Amino acid sequence: MNYRPREKFLNLPARIAKLGDLAYNLWWSWHPEGRELFIMLGGRAAWSRNGHNPVKMMQELDDSVFKLASLDPRFLRYYDAVMARFDGDMDPRSGWFCTSIADPREDTIAYFSAEYGLHHALPVYAGGLGFLAGDYLKECSDLGVPSVGIGFMYPEGYLLQRITPDGWQAGACERLDRENAPVQRLRDDDGNPLLVEIPLLGGSIYVEVWKVQVGRTDLYLMDTAVDANDPWNRSISDRLYTGDPEQRLRQEIVLGIGGIRVLKALGIEPTVLHLNEGHPAFAILERIRERVERGMDLEESEEYVRKTTVFTTHTPVPAGHDKFSFSLMEKYFGSYLSRLGISRDDFFGLGIDPRDPASGFNMTAFALRMSKHRNCVSLRHREVTRQMWRHLWPNLSEEEVPIDYVTNGIHVPTWIDRRLGNITFNQYLGRDWLEKHDNPLIWELMDEIPDEVIWKQHGRMKRALINKIKDRARLKWRDPESDSRTLMAFGTLLDPQTLTLGFARRFASYKRATLLLQDAERLRNILTHPQRPVQIIFAGKAHPDDQQSKLLLQRVFNAAADKSFEGRIAFVEDYDQYLAQYLVHGVDVWVNNPRPPMEASGTSGMKASLNGVPQLSIFDGWWVEGYNGKNGWGFEGSEGPCEVRDDRDAEAIYEILEKEVIPLYYRVDDKGVPRGWVKVMKEAIKVTGPNFTSRRMVKEYTEKFYHPAIEEVRATRICKRP
Ligand SMILES: *Cc1c(COP(=O)(O)O)cnc(C)c1O
Repeated sequence: MNYRPREKFLNLPARIAKLGDLAYNLWWSWHPEGRELFIMLGGRAAWSRNGHNPVKMMQELDDSVFKLASLDPRFLRYYDAVMARFDGDMDPRSGWFCTSIADPREDTIAYFSAEYGLHHALPVYAGGLGFLAGDYLKECSDLGVPSVGIGFMYPEGYLLQRITPDGWQAGACERLDRENAPVQRLRDDDGNPLLVEIPLLGGSIYVEVWKVQVGRTDLYLMDTAVDANDPWNRSISDRLYTGDPEQRLRQEIVLGIGGIRVLKALGIEPTVLHLNEGHPAFAILERIRERVERGMDLEESEEYVRKTTVFTTHTPVPAGHDKFSFSLMEKYFGSYLSRLGISRDDFFGLGIDPRDPASGFNMTAFALRMSKHRNCVSLRHREVTRQMWRHLWPNLSEEEVPIDYVTNGIHVPTWIDRRLGNITFNQYLGRDWLEKHDNPLIWELMDEIPDEVIWKQHGRMKRALINKIKDRARLKWRDPESDSRTLMAFGTLLDPQTLTLGFARRFASYKRATLLLQDAERLRNILTHPQRPVQIIFAGKAHPDDQQSKLLLQRVFNAAADKSFEGRIAFVEDYDQYLAQYLVHGVDVWVNNPRPPMEASGTSGMKASLNGVPQLSIFDGWWVEGYNGKNGWGFEGSEGPCEVRDDRDAEAIYEILEKEVIPLYYRVDDKGVPRGWVKVMKEAIKVTGPNFTSRRMVKEYTEKFYHPAIEEVRATRICKRP
């Protein structure tokens, strides 16, 4: 049977009928001309009111609007130009993969991830892992890599952050309005929703499947909130990363095993399985089971699956590696294992961490053992991961531990400021700079851009950020419960002339959001300097169950509200993909001070650097590779107990600020341009543009893992022929 999304917008005038396809294809999220078309159609006010979501906006528009547009020559001219671009990008036989690697129609790479950060109109993400997955899918579309994504719908998991007047995060959950989001439920020819069954203890779980079109890449999201499920099962996909171990195990069973079943129902048998973190690792089991059921023996099936599995591990934080008690595993996998023909002990053995065998079934240990291709997300992270897991290979030295690395990267068209890219880079780097952005030679032309031009663009981005923050404060002021203290803390006193530091990230404790506040007196002197003041913009969410992190957030809020800082600290509510765009474009310095080696990569600093916002960062994650002495500032984390380290690391930041950053920023020539500073900005762009991008990353995944795995399987396919 042929499952497909139901068409919406069926009654559009024929001349502009493809607007419906475009609205449902997130292609517009990284092509400003696509967004512009919708703005032309409905107006800027409707576009903002509907959260920059064309599906929602189009549903609000009157039929007469479409009718008029279909007769308006100016609109039609623009429409045709955008559609020509769109159609060209959707051609399945174009792109790097097709020309350099293989025929993309022959093999599929199934990419499994618990979250995807694609656009704020589709909030199914928590943080960095999700943005990485979202950027990955967009890049696969750009390069023509035949990947398909699998994930969860999370109908009510997205946290809208609200801060009470005493600085406490009181989250409200936003229900995803699926009917108005750029997702479509898959239906069969009779119009019935596609329902996929996943056998579980005590009956089955059913999922419905929603399709997200990401350029030419398909993403399928599973949803357990269907009538066929009892209430407990219905709530499995409610929210991201639930704390209850049993529900979490059930989530991961649905994600892994269910994901493979969904692909099967759609007629997709992936050649390669790519696990983005350990959460979906049960997909490995289901692939083995499929083969055993077809008559292959267990060992052969395991071998086949192992050599076609890629596992990316993302964090050295212990809580980031899921472990499930054996009794829980027994409860859910007892009958499944008999169908696989694997004994319980053998199976449990695959998930045991030899250093802590009693801790249960470890998803990372399982995924490491069952995949031939394993990678970390930066060079530094590989070092740490090899230390963490070397005991799985007791006969090998640490350097021989078979774990590679592919440093994370960001999707350039998504994260570049539109005008910086379309105006400045187009003019000086050549109109095809975006097409060819992984060619380092193009970025050498950065030196051709006059300092004034870059500086002016930056000033515009900075004012846009500060205006956005003040607009939010103004809206908040309308709320009868808002008070002036909160408003000041939210950034009302920010000033576009002042050197601005940005610190926006989840309030996980290892990220040390309060480190800058460590020595309040010294910080106050820095911020309130009469000639060379500094301001800091903070943003970020705490996990709703994490009281410790909420306390950190409260400390930041209280500092922002503290009059002795003279309004030079701001905490901005509700850090999401939309606010992130403004922040990474508009602050002057991006500050990053996790406790090493906990930040496996970090990507927000890449987004900032790409836009000429250099990082001031501790050496951890990507910065160990990214820093070249000229593109920002770096310092080694100190050793010792936490309190000592925190004091010393804060000291290191104050030093760099006082001795290097502040003087350089305020040293302007008679035209008002800080030449030395602009040099650092240009260098930041030059280093990030070709290297720390999803283009480089996806090419590397393809060349290191996908292509060899595909070739290996093809060789066996040919050998097996009689
Ligand atoms: C990029 C991004 C992140 C991840 O940033 P890190 O540097 O890895 O902390 C988190 N949230 C949002 C909204 C982002 O855009």
